[in-house]
Amino acid sequence: MEIRANDPRRKSWVDVPAGSDFPIQNLPFGVFRTKINPKPRVCTAIGDYVVDLDVLNQLAFFDELELPNSVFQNRYLNELMALGRGKVRALRERIADLLDDSNDEVKPLGWHFLHPMEKVELLLPIQVGDYTDFYSSREHATNVGTMFRDPANALMPNWLHLPVGYHGRASSIVVSGTPIRRPMGQMLPQGADKPVYGPSRLLDFELEMAFVVGTPNELGQPIPIDKAEDHIFGMVLFNDWSARDIQKWEYVPLGPFLGKNFASTISPWVVTMDALEPFRTSGPPQDPQPLPYLQIGGPRSFDINLEMAIQPEGTNEAYRLCRSNFKYMYWNMCQQLAHHTVNGCNMRTGDLCASGTISGPTPDSYGSMLELAWRGTKPIQLPDGSERKFILDGDTVIQRGWCEKDGVRIGFGEAAGKVLPAVQAST
Ligand code: MN
Repeated sequence: MEIRANDPRRKSWVDVPAGSDFPIQNLPFGVFRTKINPKPRVCTAIGDYVVDLDVLNQLAFFDELELPNSVFQNRYLNELMALGRGKVRALRERIADLLDDSNDEVKPLGWHFLHPMEKVELLLPIQVGDYTDFYSSREHATNVGTMFRDPANALMPNWLHLPVGYHGRASSIVVSGTPIRRPMGQMLPQGADKPVYGPSRLLDFELEMAFVVGTPNELGQPIPIDKAEDHIFGMVLFNDWSARDIQKWEYVPLGPFLGKNFASTISPWVVTMDALEPFRTSGPPQDPQPLPYLQIGGPRSFDINLEMAIQPEGTNEAYRLCRSNFKYMYWNMCQQLAHHTVNGCNMRTGDLCASGTISGPTPDSYGSMLELAWRGTKPIQLPDGSERKFILDGDTVIQRGWCEKDGVRIGFGEAAGKVLPAVQAST
């Protein structure tokens, strides 16, 4: 399959600064509005600009694609995502042709549809129906199992046989830039015999990615693993904020609940699977061999560099805490989707499946403060002289992700959130 938009030789007539996440080879989808026109509409990104796709559609540039106007005049990407991978591919190829260096027809019209990115508001791009969080990094599961259970049996007996996951909460998924309120809750302090109510003291991030379902499946009709990629629209950055003290006290026997569902931050840009295609790579070898419904050949992972940084209150520099990579994931997205639907569970357009914390093999690649500061026993020294075991009020946590190959770099922008002090429930 040849995707012309991905040709590394292509350039746009829009200036794309070196190191930008948004060259012509990316063309992610998002939703934006401006002060002058507060109506949300669908956009893409090129260099430092947002491209208003509703205007391009009204200028008749998409006529041959025969798409309803509501695909672009929309608060969310869901209608676009439901078109299926073929139609979305045709649209992305058309956008690439319109923005291509060779296109003299469109360039003079640029002022109609280009907006400097810093002048627009990027909105939550997906109406998330259901949200699932997997637990698919072997290094992360091993680290957590070592800390909280038994180093000799760090992985639970099921872990190497199925992609473990839990159903999360969609309502508290927010777009980058949304402040995060430190959660109140119930926890059992170290050495105490009775629980207390108060602000979480062990607030953490989880470095994750998530994929968005484009094409749904019928209830009772599992998605076979070799068809799984047809159902995936694209990917976002995903910070699964976690309150470790609330989590530790509540999670037995039914798993994560209030320690997780107060907020998760995603990037405003959804990068399509087509744009990620050149960065396809193999995941780790799987031993034991999974059951047949989870077997799939070929490279099924993607080489996506990930990092998490922290910017303390009052500083104007973000310090990198860790570097990881999506390719470290033990279970791939096809296996996650096949497993999620093997019982007949129906996925709907806009459903979000997060990877679980992605930790790599070395301590500087761990994807949470829990692991980086090893349960608070190895505080992290920041260049401003402060130290962190967990996240403090006023800290801004910033996730970034990008792919690089053959001189092309495409990225996800960022998923950032500033932590605000807890507020007591009024009585
Ligand atoms: Mn998580």
